[in-house]
Amino acid sequence: MDSCIFCKIANGEIPSNTIYEDDKFRVILDNGPATKGHALVLPKEHYANLFEMPEELLADAAKVAKKVASDIKDKLSCDGLNLVQNNGETAGQTVMHFHLHIIPRYKNDGQHILWNPTSPSAEELVEVKNTIVGA
Ligand code: 5GP
Ligand code: ZN
Repeated sequence: MDSCIFCKIANGEIPSNTIYEDDKFRVILDNGPATKGHALVLPKEHYANLFEMPEELLADAAKVAKKVASDIKDKLSCDGLNLVQNNGETAGQTVMHFHLHIIPRYKNDGQHILWNPTSPSAEELVEVKNTIVGA
């Protein structure tokens, strides 16, 4: 993908603050971080989103995320940590190259990564369940 900025960063054509690299992934610091240490796991091959990612590579991404998250927790002494992965504009994805956010959290960091809960009825939940599983 010639025009993809994350392809260029992941493959070292554009410099980045790299905190981990192997043959399949580069992990960089986000340049608009939610918090100190906010990092992005980038596969070196281009896949637009979760649905395009091969299962094995996705499993590898989770392993890399765990390793880097542990390093961040040790070194930056965060109080918590969110893994976030956006798919599609509606879900907040702005760069259409799969990436996994690692967002360290600190008490009173002022960020709001959670959602507003809604209150569906028991019947509505069953209907959704049936729609998904095809019952
Ligand atoms: P998304 O909203 O697609 O899930 O996340 C994209 C993230 O990439 C944002 O948090 C944004 O700050 C970050 N980002 C966008 N362009 C660049 C860049 O050129 N370098 C770095 N390091 N981060 C970027
Ligand atoms: Zn790409």
